[in-house]
Amino acid sequence: MRERSSVVATVGLGANLGNPQAAVAGAIASLAALDGVKLVAQSAFYRSAPIDSSGPDYVNAVVQLQTNLSAPELLAQLQTLELGAGRERPYRNAPRTLDLDLLLFGDASIQSPSLTVPHPRMWQRAFVLLPLAEIAPALVSAALLDSVKDQILERVPDGNNC
Ligand code: AMP
Repeated sequence: MRERSSVVATVGLGANLGNPQAAVAGAIASLAALDGVKLVAQSAFYRSAPIDSSGPDYVNAVVQLQTNLSAPELLAQLQTLELGAGRERPYRNAPRTLDLDLLLFGDASIQSPSLTVPHPRMWQRAFVLLPLAEIAPALVSAALLDSVKDQILERVPDGNNC
């Protein structure tokens, strides 16, 4: 059988309940341990105020994964990790223990009932664009960064992200 070719997938992580830094760090470790997935880049952690949501500040990060999973297979793994972190969805944009978004899947463009890639809101969100610019600067233009400069984001100091 022919090996499926591998792709670099970009995943955004966020959490704002419980211990959000531990939730994000744990999710990154779980992603890195998945079969068919290799962690190739990891941003610093950032703190952001909730947008269209409520509760305490979010902790966010972005990672790049080399994977031979398909995009729907990877999304299913992300959702399993969200559930494992005890995420409930009592209402839209409720605070969450863990939110994992498939931001990019190589250069694929995907429109299905359960998956839109590139993630439709990623280009408007500083908590995605700043960490993404850190690990993949070619993907984020200065104009894009400028367009989100009013969104307050605080980098969590190194050594404090677990
Ligand atoms: P959320 O509440 O923001 O985690 O949204 C989860 C829902 O968005 C699920 O039903 C997913 O199937 C759907 N979805 C569509 N596109 C994406 C994407 N690129 N990454 C994650 N979830 C997605």
